Amino acid sequence: MKAEIIAVGTELLLGQILNTNAQYLAQACADLGVGVYYQTVVGDNTERLTNALQTAKSRADLIICTGGLGPTQDDLTKDALAASLGRQIVMHQPSMDKIEEMFRTRGVHMVESNRRQALMLENSDPLANDNGLAVGVALTQDGTSYILLPGPPKEMKPMFERYAAAWISSKMNQAQPLFSRMLKFAGIGESSLEHELLDLIERQSDPTIAPYAKEGEVAIRLTTRAATQAEADLKLDPVEREIRGRLGQHIYAAEDVTLEQEIVRILSGRKLLLAAAESCTGGLFSDMITSVPGSSAVYRGGIVCYTNELKHKLLGVPMDVLEGPDAPGAVSSETARQLAEQMREQAGSDYAVSITGVAGPDSSEGKPVGLVYVGVARKQGDTVVERLQLSGNRASIKWRAAKSALYQLWK
Ligand code: ATP
Ligand code: MG
Repeated sequence: MKAEIIAVGTELLLGQILNTNAQYLAQACADLGVGVYYQTVVGDNTERLTNALQTAKSRADLIICTGGLGPTQDDLTKDALAASLGRQIVMHQPSMDKIEEMFRTRGVHMVESNRRQALMLENSDPLANDNGLAVGVALTQDGTSYILLPGPPKEMKPMFERYAAAWISSKMNQAQPLFSRMLKFAGIGESSLEHELLDLIERQSDPTIAPYAKEGEVAIRLTTRAATQAEADLKLDPVEREIRGRLGQHIYAAEDVTLEQEIVRILSGRKLLLAAAESCTGGLFSDMITSVPGSSAVYRGGIVCYTNELKHKLLGVPMDVLEGPDAPGAVSSETARQLAEQMREQAGSDYAVSITGVAGPDSSEGKPVGLVYVGVARKQGDTVVERLQLSGNRASIKWRAAKSALYQLWK
């Protein structure tokens, strides 16, 4: 099934808002096993919208429109589609009741244009709007399926997830359900990951292999259709094995969890305790860990020792390690090691992580922006310090440093 996404709105064309709906829908289609071949943006203009619909019809089996379902004069998606398909516009009574009820309970006078939000095309399927008033529309004509969704993302997403996705699946003429598996990676960038798997991604059509990159996290989703889970596993297992053979040391989970969730899960399973001494990340590592429900069972706490003075006073790093012409300096393997070991001692934990580096934009101690040392001290065993050269602006270096520390701890 070939899909085209049409985002309707002059604001989008003018660059006043970002087309996040298209991004969301493209990923959601991939999850359903539907390939998106084109994305179009068109203003609130009947003639150009009609043209866009005609063009889409010539090259797609599924056309998903967002925007222009509201009450105002510039909301004309339903009218344009009805005209181009030669269908009547009809009232969807349950939506009309809901709109009237809403105005009655709020005690607000309802103007005539609000009724427009309860309109749909004749012989079409309504898609309920659980977070707004405009009803969505789904229909098939001459072998092409159309879905009309509202523009506001908080209305569009639930409508897609709860109603449109099932409608599309039913149209796909594939009785077999989808099975997918998410492999989550750490300590490897998106481009290296793709480089390592490119041949596999290109020659593989069932299961499909789709790389995802979001906020610095990389993941791979394997998707297939099968009658049963066992049958799906038969198809998914060999591909997963192949990927693990190449990049197994970077795969921390085979489900959609974050690295911090996985770490909290492992530590709490083994009843182990963690602490952290953070310099350049300013508490971000602690924030990530404590965002996970249940982290109180494993996280003892941490110290943000941003200045040399506090690295010395609170965690006992000798001043002659931190400062002086021949000193290793605050951003050094030695400091990272001492911070981690001292932190672990003081917290009485099984593990402690330390992070010290140059977040930028200016260099420090004559060391380059992005140079970060991550230490992991363990109750049993040696302290390991990793030297990283990270790229990006201040915020992304901090973020990557904290994620790298999670990775060092995990591996
Ligand atoms: P409304 O009832 O709010 O008028 P609508 O279905 O008519 O909804 P539009 O008028 O096209 O939708 O857009 C309403 C708002 O939804 C926009 O101002 C914008 O904030 C958001 N929006 C619309 N399209 C997109 C898009 N493609 N990506 C992200 N946000 C969008
Ligand atoms: Mg509108």
